Amino acid sequence: MAKTTKRFERVAFDVDSTLSSIEGIDELAKLRRVHVEKWTEKAMRGEIALERIYEARLDRVRPNIRMIAMTAALYVEHRVAGSARLIAELHKSGVEVLLISGALRPAILPLAHSYEIPGHRVYAVDVYFDTRGQYAGFDTFSPLARASGKRELLSALQRDGKTTAFIGDGATDLAAANVVDRFIAFTGVAQRPQVVAAARYVASSFSQLRQLLA
Ligand SMILES: [Mg+2]
Repeated sequence: MAKTTKRFERVAFDVDSTLSSIEGIDELAKLRRVHVEKWTEKAMRGEIALERIYEARLDRVRPNIRMIAMTAALYVEHRVAGSARLIAELHKSGVEVLLISGALRPAILPLAHSYEIPGHRVYAVDVYFDTRGQYAGFDTFSPLARASGKRELLSALQRDGKTTAFIGDGATDLAAANVVDRFIAFTGVAQRPQVVAAARYVASSFSQLRQLLA
C-alpha cells in the first residue's frame, strides 16, 4: 500500500452518494412503501432547503429499528469502490477521518465501523424509538437536519486550526466549501449540476480523489 502524503490533517466525508452509493432515506422509504425520492433529490440539488423536508420526510417514512438495521446493511454493501482503501491509507498516515452526514446515525454507524472510523468521529442525526422499536422522532435540534448544518459544524471544528478537506456530492456539502481548506465535489455516484458548477475540485472516482488529497 503506497503511503499517502499527509496534505490535510482532517478529511471529512459525506456519506450518502459519496462513501456509499445509496441514499439511506430513500431505501428506508422503500421498506415502508412510500415515496420521498423527489424531495431528497431536490434538497441535494439545493432547490429546496433541507429543513423544509426533513421532518415531513421522516414522518412519512417512520423508520423503526428493523428498517434501520436493514438500511445499515445496505450502506455497507454499497460502499463505493476504492473508499475502504483510501480511508485505510488516510488512517495509516495519521489523518483524522470524519463522517458528516444528514443521515440517521444508527443507520451509518456500521458503515463507519467497516472503515474503522470510531463513533465519536461520526456526525449524523440521532433517531429515537419507543420500547417496541417503533419510530419516536429525531433530534430536531441537530444542525445536520438543516441545509446550513454541515457548514456550521465544519466551521466549529475548524477552530482547532487543522487543515481540512471535505468531500461530498450535495448542495449541503457545497454550502461548507468556503469554511474548509479544500472542498471536493464527488460525482462518482450522482452528478448534481449546481454543485459541480460551483466546486473548484471535482472527483468522479476514489482514485481521482486520492490524487486531490495527496
Ligand atoms: Mg450525499
